[in-house]
Amino acid sequence: MINDIFDDVGFGVGCALYADDGAIWKRGRNTKQVISGMQTAINKVEEWSIECSFKMSTSKSSYMIFSRKKEDFKDIKLLLYGKPLEQVKSFKYLGMWLDGRYTWNKHIEEIDKKCRRVLNVMRAIAGKEWGAERDSMITIYQALIRSTVDYGCMIYGSASESLLIKRHLYNIKKIVGKKCINGRNRKEEVIMTRMRLGHSRLNASLFIIGVHETGLCENCGEKETVEHVIYNCKRFDEERKELISYLNERGKVNKDLTYLLGYDFNRDRVGYRMLIEYIYTTGLSERI
Ligand SMILES: [Zn+2]
Repeated sequence: MINDIFDDVGFGVGCALYADDGAIWKRGRNTKQVISGMQTAINKVEEWSIECSFKMSTSKSSYMIFSRKKEDFKDIKLLLYGKPLEQVKSFKYLGMWLDGRYTWNKHIEEIDKKCRRVLNVMRAIAGKEWGAERDSMITIYQALIRSTVDYGCMIYGSASESLLIKRHLYNIKKIVGKKCINGRNRKEEVIMTRMRLGHSRLNASLFIIGVHETGLCENCGEKETVEHVIYNCKRFDEERKELISYLNERGKVNKDLTYLLGYDFNRDRVGYRMLIEYIYTTGLSERI
């Protein structure tokens, strides 16, 4: 029933509905025309609701103006059941904070706040000599920070570079990065950390941020993940032999990389060198 709520909103009005969370929008240069189009659409939705004996909440409904003009749009009135709707400057829709000037400022601020809370907990439980081990820290990072940052990143990725990097997200990654790096060759550590965090320039990662069309390996047609290039990619069958037979001997071949990227592996000097060599001879070092 609710699925046809926006069926009749009129030409040029966009709509989206997710469960009972709906939005309609209209765009144009002429503010007056846009507003009158929107009011007509709201009236249609209102009619639909009366026909279906369905009451929408006026207190939970609001409207927002998206514009980069300097106008303040204060005189605009949109009515639902004869009551004026509240005009808001930002609004959370399906987990994304929208702001009227498309800066994504609010959304990034919210991600930043959320991630900082997690980081404070991580700081509290991590210690050099004691505390949560690196593996647990990475699990926490992936579950609570990475997922938050990744959600909707193809959309808010259009925010200005300075907002994304200088002010917020870069700092978060830096703090997490520091937690995971200690000693050894800096470049190798960076490679190991990137593989652990799943941040790389492999196609599957590029796909997540919207800069690769499929995320698949051009050679094998499978998802090009860290796991794929280390264990499965046919391009590197030859280079891989030595590493795999070494791991086999020790009973350490597990397809989910838990040993290779795990804490114990740090103490396995021979295995560690073999993995690093594999990453360099295959040229993967340039893509991770
Ligand atoms: Zn492949």
